[in-house]
Amino acid sequence: MKLFRIPLWLWLLFVVAGLGYAFHPYLLEQLNHMEQKRLLAQPQPVVAQMPQRLDFVQQMADLSYLASNELSGRGTGQAGGAKTQQWLEAEFTQIGLVAAGTEGYLQSYQPTTGKAQLMKGAANVLGRIEGSDPSLPLLVLTAHYDHLGLHQGKIYFGADDNASGVAALLAMARYFKQHPPRHTLLFAALDNEETGMWGARMLFEQELLKPEQIKLNINMDMLSHDTNKQLIAVGSYHYPQLEKPLQQLQQQSSVRLLLGYDRPAWRVGTHQDWTFSSDHREFHKRAVPFVYFGVPDHADYHQPTDTVENIDQEFYREVSETVLDAVLLFDAG
Ligand SMILES: [Zn+2]
Repeated sequence: MKLFRIPLWLWLLFVVAGLGYAFHPYLLEQLNHMEQKRLLAQPQPVVAQMPQRLDFVQQMADLSYLASNELSGRGTGQAGGAKTQQWLEAEFTQIGLVAAGTEGYLQSYQPTTGKAQLMKGAANVLGRIEGSDPSLPLLVLTAHYDHLGLHQGKIYFGADDNASGVAALLAMARYFKQHPPRHTLLFAALDNEETGMWGARMLFEQELLKPEQIKLNINMDMLSHDTNKQLIAVGSYHYPQLEKPLQQLQQQSSVRLLLGYDRPAWRVGTHQDWTFSSDHREFHKRAVPFVYFGVPDHADYHQPTDTVENIDQEFYREVSETVLDAVLLFDAG
């Protein structure tokens, strides 16, 4: 019976594979447990209150307009999306940013695959504040302004996702206009994040940016829903040099920074990996270091209930001041 003469090594392989299969749920549970423990062991905030450097009244007014009926959810290719572009252009002009698009502040482009290729009129809105030391590389601040728009008769307002990031971007542009940075700051309000991250991708494909010009991308996407004061800061697993400045940031912040969410599955089990979850992915793909700031997922995420009323204002203010501190730290270092 030659058929059953299975060599010993193959038997061993079967046994190991069988044990692995049998214990897989247990191993996964252990990994999840270890990751949870690691996250909880991260330092707690020591600062009770954040300073007030950004104009939060203006910032909330901007967020409210971005998430209003008038812009009806800022869908790419929809009237609300086009109107948002015009409004952002006017804001950038009023703040006094240097135009950094291909037609003034705008960078128009046409997505070429997926459902985004049917969308006309896509454009990023880009402005710059020159740094005092022109030899330094760029800091690129990004926040996508598009959201799901008008869909099956419902408006998806996207107040947290991502009017919150765009309003914070504008607030920071106003701040740095008054407090000139060392590095040149590029303020990028990006389109099409919700439909394939075309806006971020086109920064590179149209060669508006070259990876080697950039020191860091700071991406803001969903800053304003309070879940136990947690703010997730993604990126330091891939770029360990970011860990120290982020630890320093925690020392200055009243919100809880959670580092992680970019560790691979074999280390964290089923815990989420957000490396590719927003526009920072296009920077990461080109080996540009990034920090992504965002809150944990919540019940209003991608729902018509993501409205201004459901914003946690004090938390949003604390988060915005924290991200400002991050920019200041990276600008100084
Ligand atoms: Zn988003």
